[in-house]
Amino acid sequence: RRRRRRREAEDERKRKAAAVVEEAEQAFSTPTALLRGIADAMVEEMERGLRADPHAPIKMLISYVDNLPTGDEHGLFYALDLGGTNFRVIRVQLGGREKRVVKQQYEEVSIPPHLMVGTSTELFDFIAAELEKFVGTEGEDFHLPDGRQRELGFTFSFPVHQTSISSGTLIKWTKGFSINGTVGEDVVAELTRAMERQGLDMKVTALVNDTVGTLAGGRYVDNDVVAAVILGTGTNAAYVEHANVIPKWNGPLPRSGNMVINMEWGNFRSDKLPSSEYDKALDFESLNPGEQLYEKMISGMYLGEIVRRILLKLAHDASLFGDVVPPKLEQLFILRTPDMSAMHHDTSHDLKHLGAKLKDILGVPDTSLEARYITLHVCDLVAERGARLAAAGIYGILKKLGKDKLLNDFSQQRTVVAMDGGLYEHYKKFSSCLEATLTDLLGEEAASSVVVKLANDGSGIGAALLAASHSQYAA
Ligand code: BGC
Ligand code: MG
Repeated sequence: RRRRRRREAEDERKRKAAAVVEEAEQAFSTPTALLRGIADAMVEEMERGLRADPHAPIKMLISYVDNLPTGDEHGLFYALDLGGTNFRVIRVQLGGREKRVVKQQYEEVSIPPHLMVGTSTELFDFIAAELEKFVGTEGEDFHLPDGRQRELGFTFSFPVHQTSISSGTLIKWTKGFSINGTVGEDVVAELTRAMERQGLDMKVTALVNDTVGTLAGGRYVDNDVVAAVILGTGTNAAYVEHANVIPKWNGPLPRSGNMVINMEWGNFRSDKLPSSEYDKALDFESLNPGEQLYEKMISGMYLGEIVRRILLKLAHDASLFGDVVPPKLEQLFILRTPDMSAMHHDTSHDLKHLGAKLKDILGVPDTSLEARYITLHVCDLVAERGARLAAAGIYGILKKLGKDKLLNDFSQQRTVVAMDGGLYEHYKKFSSCLEATLTDLLGEEAASSVVVKLANDGSGIGAALLAASHSQYAA
């Protein structure tokens, strides 16, 4: 009798687990028809943003980049990349059309977490000090003509209201950053003051978002690049727009006729987005509640955290990891997306690597095979939803550009989207799902002319190239 009761309890537990999983499957499902609706909503919001509708969630920020690199850029330039988990300093010696990038060097430092939530001065002092150290190691392969000041492209991967190519005020922090006193300030002025405090003589000649840097870096090596997407800690996109369809642009019409727009699509919202109870709770407990809702379903900072929340529910309601809920599972952000990715890619028949990860992260010594399979399935649901939503966003941009259909003009048109970010680069199941979904949305024929191209760290070079084309010494 006792055995029967135990079996009944076990069946009941399994039923509960299945119910939670099924509910998540429903909540996270993104049928293609829904994605089409989301792409259309994205296009509508793009238009609202370009009109400067005050309620537009996507800001469609004017970058002041109206010319992308041509290959003629020449000289020594620095770049600084701030906004993900790492912070990077770069120098490149550009050799013009023939020689291109003659030499480049970079250094990467992870940002001490306390600086992400500290004061503006501390953050900028840290950056300037690292930059100053880096400039000190400039070797003989790099040449700065006599009497010239060093120049810098500043990749700042947050929403900025630009007032020129080399100035702009921070609209809000995103991702893991939350620093008092920077919003509303000119970030170039902040950096310049910090460089002065370091005794570093350098001029910021271009302030760019990482998407804009990636677009510039992508175009430098491929003329067909028209848009750039970042899928990393955060997510965003930029693309080349016709200046005459930007109602809010009231400057002179650029000679190129174009203007690069930093969409800030991370803040996209729509009642079409499949927002689950987990998303709502994550948002509520985040550093920026109510903001960046699309980003919170897609990007690397959040995917692992969504998985954690579902596993926690399974642990509570269905004792997935045994009679007690593993205390570590209650800890926000303990399950990072790279760990999720590692679990998701376990192909062993008994999911032993996944099991080892769970043990590592959550301190659960033995997981049942059932628990491991459920965990794998949860990773799949969350990654797939993120990748499919990102594909819908890209499809929206292509629609806006009229590049979602093959033109019958025998022009062999090719449309390239430059892509950067660790999520896309390292999470294979995510990137392949994104690509398959984009093909599905475009249809085989149109998809054959669209290329998503990994522009690994294009944003650093891109910022240096833009610093070059906006140099104070440029002809
Ligand atoms: C920021 C964007 C940035 C993106 C990718 C988002 O959180 O708002 O400015 O481009 O992350 O780094
Ligand atoms: Mg980055």
